[in-house]
Amino acid sequence: VEVITEIESCRSAIQAAKGAGLRTALVPTMGALHSGHLALIQAARQRAGHVAVSIFVNPTQFCPGEDFAKYPRALEKDLSLCRDSNVDLVFAPSVDAMFPVAATTTVHVARLADGLCGPLRPGHFDGVATVVTKLFQILPVDLAVFGEKDYQQLVIVRHLARDLNVPVEIVGHPTVREPDGLALSSRNAYLGPSERRQAGSLSAALFAAVDRAAGGELRSAALLADIRARIHAAGPATIEYVEVVDAETLESLRVIDRPARICLAVRIGNCRLIDNVAVDGRPSTR
Ligand code: AMP
Repeated sequence: VEVITEIESCRSAIQAAKGAGLRTALVPTMGALHSGHLALIQAARQRAGHVAVSIFVNPTQFCPGEDFAKYPRALEKDLSLCRDSNVDLVFAPSVDAMFPVAATTTVHVARLADGLCGPLRPGHFDGVATVVTKLFQILPVDLAVFGEKDYQQLVIVRHLARDLNVPVEIVGHPTVREPDGLALSSRNAYLGPSERRQAGSLSAALFAAVDRAAGGELRSAALLADIRARIHAAGPATIEYVEVVDAETLESLRVIDRPARICLAVRIGNCRLIDNVAVDGRPSTR
């Protein structure tokens, strides 16, 4: 695996791969790689002859008071996982290279960032949209793979690519979960043992709602009340939001009458967890 920190050499490496006739793919990450990231890398590998992974803990997507300083960093281990997964190129730039002090441009995706995590994490999605736009300039790949785990982010990235005529195909990949259903996340490392047990209640509540919807209960309020009750029954937790939204526009739905997503953010102890599932009136596939 070729490890590159310089922007210009990264661009030439992608262009060289394309020149050699290869289809190129990017998997953007913040590192601390886990099996969820590795599944994205595999999905990229199935679609492309040259696979790049970016590893960059992007300071602009953390709000003041969030966990930027303590976010897990494990570059050496990440590189060895990338080697094992036959990644061709790792782009691991410094913060100064990505965001020189003189930089003043921000990418803002209107509306889609207004709900769900948006109001709770002011500036977060501008930070995401800006860094992803930059990555698409630095690594001019044919396709990029993003996880459904961060569903709002996936929708925002799809829109920015379309709106800004970025010639990168955006591929969404299903959420990879622990055996008890907990969505894998670098932040799960913050959970203590009893919090970790409790955290399984989030996906369990979501999947129960999907099954209840399949049984004919399509009113959001009824499903959401049940999800809240299940999460609170598992132990002390702060539900930041739990919402049924249109899968494409992210607008809140009172009734599930089209492809929808149930999305939530819950704090357990010091850890903020997000999760979501597809719901369209058919039974869950788990
Ligand atoms: P992160 O390093 O957390 O910023 O995530 C990098 C990419 O991996 C994003 O596209 C995430 O949506 C994706 N990802 C993170 N966790 C998972 C998971 N459990 N399953 C699938 N994709 C994931």
